[in-house]
Amino acid sequence: MERLDAFMARAASAYYAKGDGIGRDFTTAPEMSQAFGECLGLWAAITWQSMGSPGRVILAELGPGRGTLMADALRAVDEMMPAFAHAAELHLVETSPALRAAQAAMLQGRVAAWHADAATLPDGPAILIANEFFDALPIRQFVKRDLWRERFVVADRFVEQPSDHNEPAPEGSIREIGDTALAIAAGLGQRITQQGGALLILDYGPAESGFGDTLQALRGNAPCDPLAKPGEADITAHVDFAALARASNAAAHGPLPMGLFLQRLGLMARSAMLAQAAPAQAGPILAAAQRLVAPEGMGRLFKAMVLAHPQLPTPAGFEA
Ligand code: SAH
Repeated sequence: MERLDAFMARAASAYYAKGDGIGRDFTTAPEMSQAFGECLGLWAAITWQSMGSPGRVILAELGPGRGTLMADALRAVDEMMPAFAHAAELHLVETSPALRAAQAAMLQGRVAAWHADAATLPDGPAILIANEFFDALPIRQFVKRDLWRERFVVADRFVEQPSDHNEPAPEGSIREIGDTALAIAAGLGQRITQQGGALLILDYGPAESGFGDTLQALRGNAPCDPLAKPGEADITAHVDFAALARASNAAAHGPLPMGLFLQRLGLMARSAMLAQAAPAQAGPILAAAQRLVAPEGMGRLFKAMVLAHPQLPTPAGFEA
């Protein structure tokens, strides 16, 4: 018998260790459009300026996957704001050896260091980006019966055990709690509040915390049973943005629908330019941009939230 978060941590770590699932089992925004990473690179550059353009800044990405987002971001930054590229010291938080190798190949000597844990990032003002990172972190699930019970995994089934979780809720409600995600938000929030900077989180989940079972797994871009074959599917859960904001004790901006955030950063205009420059590819380029911003695509379920130093002005894209 294994508590759900232990099961999920084991499944995710076995799955990402292989490092070949992105694109095959699930698709992420940076893999759909280069404009995504480019816009985030410019967002980071503007954030750096709003911090007073420090001569050295930690630029960190959590769970960089194949390194595509950061490669696109750096290309845009090199061109548009080389002073930021010069100040930025790039650190990647990644546990998968296969994905570290992919990132090294993609980023060609620009990575100062890899970290297994955000806690070992060097001190100093920092700009951090996490796209589809928090959804991969393990959750616990509690179910309201007479009393609250907690879900454990035996073979490929759930069993419920007594728990001391306690909050008012209708019978059958499911409460999810991601202790790892909350601990990371708390650690990074403290760091940002003390040393300056901002963390941009892009992920999927509701704007407000709520009840419900959001554990899911994808294989071959199709949903499958999250308990059936641990390590052979991408296993994730919705991100509880409100809980992350509370745990961070930092200034929270958003969460906003991701589509709105990307539109404000100019994703559509940039995509139109790319389409014009490559007419043969115009259809797929514009379709990808549309999917990123459209409410019925990824534009609404996905959110953007920034946890920032309290003195930082409203980050780009979060203006009221
Ligand atoms: N951001 C990328 C990849 C998303 S997949 C993209 O958008 O394409 C999740 C990423 O987080 C992978 O790189 C995975 O190896 C990494 N990851 C998952 N759990 C992690 C953990 N506990 N610590 C560090 N990295 C983790």
